[in-house]
Amino acid sequence: MEKTISILGSTGSIGTQSIEVANKHGIKIYALAAHSNYRLLARQCIDNKVKKACIFDEGFRDSLKAILDPYGIEVLCGMEGLCEIAGDPCSGMLLNSVVGMVGLLPTLTAIDAGKDIALANKETLVAGGKLVMDKAAVNGVKIYPVDSEHSAIFQCLQGNKRSQLKKILLTASGGPFFGKKRNELENVTIEQALSHPNWSMGNKITIDSATLMNKGLEFIEAKWLFDLDPSQIEIIVHRQSVIHSAVEYDDNSVIAQLGCPDMKIPIQYALLYPDRLECDCKPLSLTDYGTLTFDKPDTETFGCLKAAIEAIKAGGAYPCIVNGANEQAVQLFLDKKISFTRIGDIVSSVLDNFAFHDINSYEDVIKWDRKAREYVLEKA
Ligand code: NDP
Ligand code: MG
Repeated sequence: MEKTISILGSTGSIGTQSIEVANKHGIKIYALAAHSNYRLLARQCIDNKVKKACIFDEGFRDSLKAILDPYGIEVLCGMEGLCEIAGDPCSGMLLNSVVGMVGLLPTLTAIDAGKDIALANKETLVAGGKLVMDKAAVNGVKIYPVDSEHSAIFQCLQGNKRSQLKKILLTASGGPFFGKKRNELENVTIEQALSHPNWSMGNKITIDSATLMNKGLEFIEAKWLFDLDPSQIEIIVHRQSVIHSAVEYDDNSVIAQLGCPDMKIPIQYALLYPDRLECDCKPLSLTDYGTLTFDKPDTETFGCLKAAIEAIKAGGAYPCIVNGANEQAVQLFLDKKISFTRIGDIVSSVLDNFAFHDINSYEDVIKWDRKAREYVLEKA
């Protein structure tokens, strides 16, 4: 049967690459969604002959409709539109590549509709990991990781017994400020923080990579995706981003997945699993690299990473609060309202300023996310 997908966040770094992968392998695209870039969204919808388009920001609805009406493409907007696409029975898998925890409700909606999900939107699992994984288990839904490290771990788990997994080795590039100490980071500019050594990505995740919050989010994402105890996750700074992560089994054998840093590989694996077809990315030449390096992460300088790990160990609403605080703090940094090092200070401070609370529902996630954002806005 012909494979059909819908993509939320189609105009972003992951979204545009996902369309290329889908086109290369003859996967039909049913619907696409973006936040406000209606021009690119419209182009993508026409080129891919989709049935539905959603623009989150209602202010662009009329402009999008004016372009798409002649093509008979239905235009939706807001959260309602994202959820309509997520749960639409006419489409198969959902690829969720929006940025931020706004992706949580569409993910839950897709799971309710029994759809498998290719998940790039890591904030979804950080803020509502238990809700998502419990619902996926009840509905028999599979979540295929798109994040390169989690895709690597997923690949290393194939053909082995999950019960004999001892731990995972989550690799981190270290970002643009590897080796720097706090006093050297005080005056970091947006441009410096946005220049990642190995990966070209959206602004939010690039800042998260510079603060190492990205690895903290991935630590939590891995805990939920692979049902791990935090003590089973070791973070290793590996500057070249060639080993995308590894797993260690009870016999002390370590199995890793390697490749050039290119998101097309994990995107394609999530969309085509278990097939491994030709991919438009550079083949890996280990001799071109010559040397691969490994270091311990510096959690003192990069407070966000420490805060995220402490948050998942503390459990309850803490991961959601840390994520909400980070989303708000990164926005303030990008708006030039706070300095780079303030992001880490603010995110770390939430752990001491919020008591323990449980998360039992989507409404709980929304509440603690909002409270975290309000706290940051007050502090900034
Ligand atoms: P980008 O900033 O490049 O793209 C974000 C996409 O989400 C855009 O299409 C944007 O639309 C859309 N979007 C944002 N908010 C909404 C909303 N409320 N409703 C609908 N669409 C929305 O981000 P990336 O592609 O880099 O990252 C996406 C996710 O994937 C993040 O969670 C990130 O952490 C994760 N990820 C990314 C990797 C990468 O290599 N880029 C690697 C691993 C994970 P618009 O263009 O209109 O603003
Ligand atoms: Mg990653």
